[in-house]
Amino acid sequence: MEPNIRNIAVLTSGGDAPGMNACIRAVVRTGIYHGKNMFGVMQGYQGLINNHIIPMNARSVSNILHLGGTILKTARCLEFKEDEGMEKAFKNLKEKEIDGLIVIGGDGTFTGAQRFGKKYGVNVMGIPGTIDNDLYGSDFTLGYDTAVNTIIEAIDKIRDTADSHDRLFFIEVMGRDSGCIALRTAVASGAEAVLLPEKETSLKDLIIKLKEGVNTKKSSSIVIVSEGNKYGGAWDIAKSVKRKFNHYDTKVTILGHLQRGGSPSGFDRILGSRLGFAAVNEMLKGATMQMVGLRGNEIKLTSLDVALHMHSYKLEDDLLEMTKVLSI
Ligand code: ADP
Repeated sequence: MEPNIRNIAVLTSGGDAPGMNACIRAVVRTGIYHGKNMFGVMQGYQGLINNHIIPMNARSVSNILHLGGTILKTARCLEFKEDEGMEKAFKNLKEKEIDGLIVIGGDGTFTGAQRFGKKYGVNVMGIPGTIDNDLYGSDFTLGYDTAVNTIIEAIDKIRDTADSHDRLFFIEVMGRDSGCIALRTAVASGAEAVLLPEKETSLKDLIIKLKEGVNTKKSSSIVIVSEGNKYGGAWDIAKSVKRKFNHYDTKVTILGHLQRGGSPSGFDRILGSRLGFAAVNEMLKGATMQMVGLRGNEIKLTSLDVALHMHSYKLEDDLLEMTKVLSI
């Protein structure tokens, strides 16, 4: 039986990601289209606890489709992990008679949503929003494509200067425990090597690879370092490599938070719109405690339980092979 949901709230939580605004817009407008009252929660779970919940109409989300960040703001909220915090959040939702909650975020956000939904029986749906692309149940997460494009653009610029000076650059990219961003940007920018959290690459092999580049007259080399790799950050690796390999002038660039910003790519605008649209439609059909994801270009539901407990992303073998073969 379809639930009688009248009031739906949406929030963004955890790390922000480009495309979240496109998704908020889709959630709000899809709900309104179905005659529901829509609310936006400011600053993720913190806003639920602080009762910072605002009514939204179709015009509240005008002209945000192309904006990076999130108009609802986001936060990391430790209080929501405690029973007392959850209780306050539930009381605020109950007062406004909000019976559906859509959360856009990563695995931390889903863990919170799952606990909350189980405890209070609120209908919850999760939308995977993180640049890390590290959630099981969706081939792509919201913001990932934009981040990859942003990084590629930055690396192209670094390559210009690296080439002019015969330099070796270590470029550190985000991704937490997932090497997905690093692997894809390495392929797309023609990096000479990539260090990933999932994969053992010895520094010895890295140096052999860089020496081969010198021997074959490469005028620059770029090594992408995923932040979660076992040797530490790009500075540490550069130091270790420099001791044994001084054929190039060595530089380090940590791309940092610029990777999170910027106008969402066409892909992320569409993905955000699709996932937001589907989350509301599925919730109105009776789905709850599910994540909406994209698999094989189709919208698929995965229970939050499964999304949280299955190993997330498997690095593509062909891409891994290509980082070696295409950079000779
Ligand atoms: P992400 O969603 O990007 O993985 P976080 O891990 O920071 O980001 O999680 C976002 C928020 O989700 C946290 O600040 C907290 O409010 C909530 N959260 C995370 N883990 C739990 C938990 N075990 N119980 C309740 N809420 C949680």
